[in-house]
Amino acid sequence: MADLEIVQLNARSDNFAILIHDPQSGRTASIDAPEAAPILAELEARGWQLSDIFVTHKHYDHIDGIPALKQAHGAAVTGPQASAAETGLYDNTVSDGESFDFAGHSVEVIETPGHTLDHVSYYIADQNLLFSADTLFALGCGRVFEGSPPMMWESLKKLRALPDDTIVYCGHEYTLANARFAVTADPENAALAGRLAEIEELRAAGKPTLPTSLGVEKATNPFLRADDPAVAAAMGMSGASPAEIFAEVRARKDRF
Ligand code: ZN
Ligand code: FE
Repeated sequence: MADLEIVQLNARSDNFAILIHDPQSGRTASIDAPEAAPILAELEARGWQLSDIFVTHKHYDHIDGIPALKQAHGAAVTGPQASAAETGLYDNTVSDGESFDFAGHSVEVIETPGHTLDHVSYYIADQNLLFSADTLFALGCGRVFEGSPPMMWESLKKLRALPDDTIVYCGHEYTLANARFAVTADPENAALAGRLAEIEELRAAGKPTLPTSLGVEKATNPFLRADDPAVAAAMGMSGASPAEIFAEVRARKDRF
């Protein structure tokens, strides 16, 4: 079986759309549909037909492009059961622990509520690919709009349990702002300090900082490290539960 080809596209101001393409069958999926125009242009340039859209959650900046993409390409839309009625946009619905086939690859659905209650992440184990949208960002995590901090912490722990060599694609380019906060939450972390410098260089050159890898995130992302004594100490909360420490890191980032 051939490896999937991945194309990460800028959309809106700071969203990503990600195309995954199987060169043998020609099947092509978009992870979310933040905006139709850049996706349509990329499909046209590559001569790809969009067969699928995999939706992570119901926010406007992840679904806005769906009607135009469906009209142009007839793509089938797969989205979380929890927002099917509210959005009215999905042809197929999925929920936690389900998997489905994409061009011979098994796509696993991992429910990751917290940012929204419907949020799912998509994981393709045989390609080491994770699409975490607005749950896990490079050096950050999504704002907790609908769930609670303990719920978000549980969701992040599910993703953290995946292998270190997992390649992580996210919903937004928020990495520089995340990195500037992260060094305040984990000030003694040398790997994190080095990463901030790399990220500043990439952004100064106008380059994306994503994808990232789960191994790098486990070592440097304070939101995945709420049970690390160094982060607890930086919060002044040594001995508190990881969920409480996570809530404090999230609250400080919201005010940062
Ligand atoms: Zn969102
Ligand atoms: Fe978003």
